Amino acid sequence: MEHNIYMYKIVIHLSKPDKEEKTTKLIWVKESDGIFSVKSAYDSIVETDLEFDESNFNLVWKVWAPSNASALGWRVFLDRIQTKMNLVRRNIPISSCACPWCGIAEETTSHLLFVCPFAWCVWSLILRWLGIFFVLPGESMDHFKQFVNCWSLATKSGLATIWLATVWHLWHGRNAVIFREENLESVGIFEAVKLKSWSWIKACNKNCPHSLSEWFNEPLACLGDM
Ligand SMILES: [Zn+2]
Repeated sequence: MEHNIYMYKIVIHLSKPDKEEKTTKLIWVKESDGIFSVKSAYDSIVETDLEFDESNFNLVWKVWAPSNASALGWRVFLDRIQTKMNLVRRNIPISSCACPWCGIAEETTSHLLFVCPFAWCVWSLILRWLGIFFVLPGESMDHFKQFVNCWSLATKSGLATIWLATVWHLWHGRNAVIFREENLESVGIFEAVKLKSWSWIKACNKNCPHSLSEWFNEPLACLGDM
């Protein structure tokens, strides 16, 4: 188990091949020559764990997003959003605790936003869009940590913004399904996340040179220039 955790921490530092390269190869981004070493992997794991407790928890307040979105992210970390199971814990009567996406599992914060097959499908579309492939954890803080550290340091704020926009649309989509009986699909939420994250990022980066189509096609390249 411990080895598995370390392995997926190592995977987050592997980069896609350079655009100029004709052949496909993985690059270890923690070394200037791109070659993996055990010592470098160990150092990066220690460095990642130390920096998380100090800063990542507060990063949700520093993302390129409005304060109400940051507040939602903070409440998700603390499990303080009004899911059906949280209402039950407060002795508020609920006719059904079923998740509105799958209709099977109990609606907890973790299930609704990260574990449910519907939410998982949305996150998979986001990762595919970013060109990054790994398994995301089911717990909110670990999920956030893994997501924002999945690329270079330069993209951290932007990735946190995409994470927050995804949580935002999953939560408000859930409310639309429950209270307005809307019929939503994962790809619709994915498209909304791309637009929302771009509008938040543009609002906070007035000099951003990229267009919406560039954002849609090369999100990590755009983030790397900010
Ligand atoms: Zn579900």
